[in-house]
Amino acid sequence: MKKKILITGGAGFLGSHLAKNLLQQGNSIIILDNLMTGNVRNIEKFFENKNFQFIKHDVINPIDIKVDIIFNLACPASPPWYQRDPIHTIKTNFLGSLNMLELAKKYEAKIFQASTSEVYGDPLMHPQIESYKGNVNCTGIRSCYDEGKRCAESLFFDYKRMFNVNIKIVRIFNTYGPSMDPKDGRVVSNFIIQALKGESLTVYGNGSQTRSFCYIDDLIDGFLKMIDSDLDFTGPVNLGNPVEFNLLELADLILKITNSNSKIIFKNLPKDDPIRRKPDIKLAKEKLNWEPKVCLNDGLIKTIKYFESILNCESRNSCRGQVSCFASCSST
Ligand code: NAD
Ligand code: UDP
Repeated sequence: MKKKILITGGAGFLGSHLAKNLLQQGNSIIILDNLMTGNVRNIEKFFENKNFQFIKHDVINPIDIKVDIIFNLACPASPPWYQRDPIHTIKTNFLGSLNMLELAKKYEAKIFQASTSEVYGDPLMHPQIESYKGNVNCTGIRSCYDEGKRCAESLFFDYKRMFNVNIKIVRIFNTYGPSMDPKDGRVVSNFIIQALKGESLTVYGNGSQTRSFCYIDDLIDGFLKMIDSDLDFTGPVNLGNPVEFNLLELADLILKITNSNSKIIFKNLPKDDPIRRKPDIKLAKEKLNWEPKVCLNDGLIKTIKYFESILNCESRNSCRGQVSCFASCSST
């Protein structure tokens, strides 16, 4: 049966891909977003679909909409963005989750939480398994996000224990792909844009820190499997690509694919930046029959094409990739 589905943060990178998939399945989609880091460019293609609605709204404020399923994705994911107004980030994670859980309780909706590998902090266990409790600095510059997401997980489990709300929690590891905002500030988008513009790639620290990069289509496949998983499976479950790269390897690969002559320069490592990160995905394999299929090289090729089209659009039209202009540029 087709469902009425609410996606908070749906104008962002992950949310807009999720909305596209769920609309294609014939569901009715409502996106709630304050457009802090999201962009109408990501969702304007849905506006003519009669099953789609966009509401500009900040999730820290309550709202009453009757839905069957809630995907709670609202929160800036990029460190420079979530650190810009850390109090608002914590409010988004706590009050936003609280407001959405109240809706789920009222309408007996299933609710999905986009949690994060950041709940493990700067992990002392490697790779990270769901039972690992983490190593988080609760007073640091990342804690508005890390502790906010940890608190949200607690709240989800309290609503399950007290009101039997049907919860689904995924812990997402670094994901990349088309629709990332050029000004997002995360490493994949920064390096690609720098390489395409012939600017130096900015490596923070000495580049030996690692991440495991998951392509967007794989992640969305994991979201869809999780929302349809057995009633008694709540998660948290890790979703990420377990192939680990250090940042110099990532920089080299991007330079090679873009055929760029850009140099690499080194900048200060931000405080509390995790040294190593790699998901253990045994649980996702066992419970969801999920594992990523797209390797970094292939995912980067598609992502680079997307950023090329944005930069071409900007340079042809001096439009700064504005909404309608980009839509027509990218379809030509
Ligand atoms: P994004 O910044 O592209 O999207 C976040 C969206 O939430 C944006 O559209 C933004 O405008 C919206 N938003 C932020 N605060 C809001 C608020 N208070 N009210 C309403 N809307 C608000 O980020 P993303 O990569 O799409 O991440 C989506 C979710 O997934 C986030 O919750 C993030 O923490 C989580 N996550 C993402 C990754 C990743 O690698 N992309 C990794 C771990 C977790
Ligand atoms: N990073 C970098 N150069 C950049 C942006 C980020 O070297 O231009 C580093 C950052 O310090 C971190 C890693 O890349 O070690 C991943 O950063 P990102 O912001 O993408 O995500 P994080 O995993 O830190 O949330």
